[in-house]
Amino acid sequence: MTARFPAQPELAGHPYFQFRNNVLYAEDVPLDHLAERLGTPLYVYSRAALKAAWQAYHSAVGQRPVLVCYGMKANSNLAVLKEFARLGAGFDIVSGGELKRALAVGADPARIVFSGVGKQAWEMRDALAAGVKCFNVESEAELRLLSQVAQDMGARAPVSLRVNPDVDAQTHPYISTGLKENKFGIAIESALAVYRSAQALPALEIVGVDCHIGSQLTEIGPYLDALDKLLDLIDRLAQAGIAIRHLDLGGGLGIRYADETPPSPRALLDPVFERLQARGLGHLHLVLEPGRSLVGNAGVLLTTVQYLKHAEARNFAIVDAAMNDLLRPALYDAFHGVRPVHPRAGEATLYDIVGPVCESADWLARQRKLAIEAGDLLAVESAGAYSMAMASNYNTRPRAAEVMVDGDQYYVVRRRETLDDLLRGESTL
Ligand SMILES: *Cc1c(COP(=O)(O)O)cnc(C)c1O
Repeated sequence: MTARFPAQPELAGHPYFQFRNNVLYAEDVPLDHLAERLGTPLYVYSRAALKAAWQAYHSAVGQRPVLVCYGMKANSNLAVLKEFARLGAGFDIVSGGELKRALAVGADPARIVFSGVGKQAWEMRDALAAGVKCFNVESEAELRLLSQVAQDMGARAPVSLRVNPDVDAQTHPYISTGLKENKFGIAIESALAVYRSAQALPALEIVGVDCHIGSQLTEIGPYLDALDKLLDLIDRLAQAGIAIRHLDLGGGLGIRYADETPPSPRALLDPVFERLQARGLGHLHLVLEPGRSLVGNAGVLLTTVQYLKHAEARNFAIVDAAMNDLLRPALYDAFHGVRPVHPRAGEATLYDIVGPVCESADWLARQRKLAIEAGDLLAVESAGAYSMAMASNYNTRPRAAEVMVDGDQYYVVRRRETLDDLLRGESTL
């Protein structure tokens, strides 16, 4: 699949990550300096990049009634969440654990929406007690449980139904969610009937319509197709006497990993606002749930080359980061740019960049032309989203540290796990 990406493209996190005097920097901090002090593998985030990504949404929204809820499963480090909370973001959560994180950074519960296909009663209780803005409900069974839980608490639960508009997001099948065969959402043909059931339940208050059609979308067509279908539904709901206050268009805007040219938030939102106006729905409040596009290119993963291994069919650079640190290549066949932090002169060789984990799927990049030697430091680009958030302890490997750079300062925002951390909580018979 790597053939799709003919040449190493320009740095994905530019200008927050860029070369100065042949050394790669995060803002004003040289990355080799961080690796020396903190070790590798190491996740490095740029605060300025987070702010700029937020600003792109903020300025596209302008004065319109839009709540941007950061889809925090992309990167739920508390320092990242705190930054977005400070900037005025809401949060899209998918678990009771994420609710705890959002509340821990002082997020306003009235700006939290609760998504996810399998919410448990305790998670509903916690979210109701906190006073979240909305539950994005994905099935009739979930509606009944939510009504029961709310009734037992003497509360009313605000709900949207997550509708599956059956549009092809033209992205990787594992991150496409808006097709009929996906587990997500309620088929659009059944939506009116399910809204009627929701209306009949005692402790629910219908407030919105929700969708999320997929991730890493690089075209606006699928969004607009979904929008048209949802606006038709909102018309039908109005005729049935069910008033909708907000429309949640989900997340999914893509980023540039290689040579993609994803639309900006403005390029997405301008036509959305146009259609709302054209259909006389300019008053409708919007909710957006961007994850990847707020954080993806605000981070890199630093890793050190341990060994070069020249096998018969391939050359391998065996590095100290692995699929447990960065799962996306193994899971999605995903492309991440890889750069030496100190590029060397000399002949480049084609390498597969692989980790030490005992799986053939343990690769980070394939067939990259690099001039490297053992001991060299590499930066894996676009590692701000779905990277540390998916890390595991497979092979009893401690999870990496995370550091946030701010100008010429840096802050360790998650210390490296120790081996003792990994054994804690286990016992023998
Ligand atoms: C994952 C997810 C998001 C964020 O998606 P991105 O592609 O990272 O923008 C938003 N909403 C829901 C319901 C999700 O599951």
